[in-house]
Amino acid sequence: MTDKTSDKLKHLLPDAMTEPKSHAELMKHKRLTENAFPHVRMRRLRQNSAVRDMVRENQVQVSDLIYPIFVEEDIDTPVAIKSMPGVVRETEKTLTAKMKEAQELGIRSVMLFGVSHHKDHNGSDSMSPNGLLARMIDRAKQAAPDVAITADLCFCEYTDHGHCGPINRHGDVDNDKTVENIAMQAVIAAEAGADIVAPSGMMDGQVSGIRHALDVTGFTHVPVMAYAAKFASVFYGPFRDAAGCSLGHDVNVPAHRKSYQLDPANSREAIRDALMDEQEGADILMVKPGMPYLDILAKLREKTELPLAVYQISGEYAMIRLAAEAGALNYQSAMMESLLSFKRAGADMILTYSALDVANWLNK
Ligand SMILES: [Zn+2]
Repeated sequence: MTDKTSDKLKHLLPDAMTEPKSHAELMKHKRLTENAFPHVRMRRLRQNSAVRDMVRENQVQVSDLIYPIFVEEDIDTPVAIKSMPGVVRETEKTLTAKMKEAQELGIRSVMLFGVSHHKDHNGSDSMSPNGLLARMIDRAKQAAPDVAITADLCFCEYTDHGHCGPINRHGDVDNDKTVENIAMQAVIAAEAGADIVAPSGMMDGQVSGIRHALDVTGFTHVPVMAYAAKFASVFYGPFRDAAGCSLGHDVNVPAHRKSYQLDPANSREAIRDALMDEQEGADILMVKPGMPYLDILAKLREKTELPLAVYQISGEYAMIRLAAEAGALNYQSAMMESLLSFKRAGADMILTYSALDVANWLNK
């Protein structure tokens, strides 16, 4: 063996035989990570798309989606909502076509929001069998009998002051009067053909009030999807434009909903409130908004066996859409990742304004 060859082979010999002269030389011959090198390599299961597909833990499916639709009375053509690109206020007539489109795409449920032209202190139009709430439920059900109509129950779209129930003499929303009214609203919605009712007002006792009213009027089969943990969030902004229920134009009532919606700072309180809805007989619990409250969703998943819904609200939708329009994000990729985060955190169903787009992507 020549000297040159032996030099070349030196690195193959055990350390003791090469007799390094210094630490620097030792480093040349011995990889510092040698003993710590992992036997478990996480990247093995990420190596190609087939393997990645096999180990994927969560998926978004069309059947997860609930599509929220705005319906405005007394308008001739749909009105675009500037802050929510791609979303319109349907007319009562165009609701029919929208329902058929949703049904054809395989959407299993829609949630309807009325934009009322008949507002008063109590929101009484929504408690009338001929009011907008009843009319749009009936029309939607007729148009797409295979789609479950989830009726949002609240008064903010029907009151002239914009709050979620009548105001008492202290200038606050009257809890017990609102519960009485919302129980009436639930029966009106069920009579009109709602498959599910979803009270969103965050009044104490609203779920048991509604459950009782439905049961004594023969609607024992109609489930309650409770807006169980609904936070007083700034991200509702675009919805309030869309539904025409912003606050602040009446100086005699608070310009916020902090006396009934949850404080964004509170996690334990949110879980208590949600579990109380379960005790009152809720069949499905909802967390709203979605992305800023994934921790609440994940915690609630640990605490209840009920199905969970999450609402990706207008501000979340707008952020993704407007960022995409500005070229900062890809709409489809960002939306799908955002919806996937809800599934990962424990949601069974997702309310999203992107539902039709998502169904189109998934059906391809
Ligand atoms: Zn409301």
